[in-house]
Amino acid sequence: MAYTRTDFKSKKAAKEAIAASPRHVCSGLNALFSVEIQALKIAECPWDHKYPNTGIPVYQPGPFGPDVKDGSAAFEGPHYPKPHRWYGSGEVKDGMLLTLK
Ligand SMILES: [Zn+2]
Repeated sequence: MAYTRTDFKSKKAAKEAIAASPRHVCSGLNALFSVEIQALKIAECPWDHKYPNTGIPVYQPGPFGPDVKDGSAAFEGPHYPKPHRWYGSGEVKDGMLLTLK
C-alpha cells in the first residue's frame, strides 16, 4: 500500500488534487510550429496522453519505500496511525499518481 504525499482525508479530495494538478505540456512544442510539426512533436512525446494532468506525488512507507514503482499501485489514507478510511488504485509514473479510482 502506498500513500499520497499529501495526507488526504478522502479519496475524493485526492482525485480533486489530481484533476487540479498542472496539465501535461509536450516538451519541445513551440507555438511557432505548424500544425503538422506540432502533431509530430506530440506523437514523439513519451507521455501517455490519456492522462491530461501531471498528478500528485506519492511514496511507499516502510522498508520497501520510499519510491513507488511505475504502473498500477494500491493506495490508502489517511496516513498511519490515523485509521484508514479510503482505499483506491491508480497509475503511477515517476513518483506521481496520475489517476485514482
Ligand atoms: Zn506530450
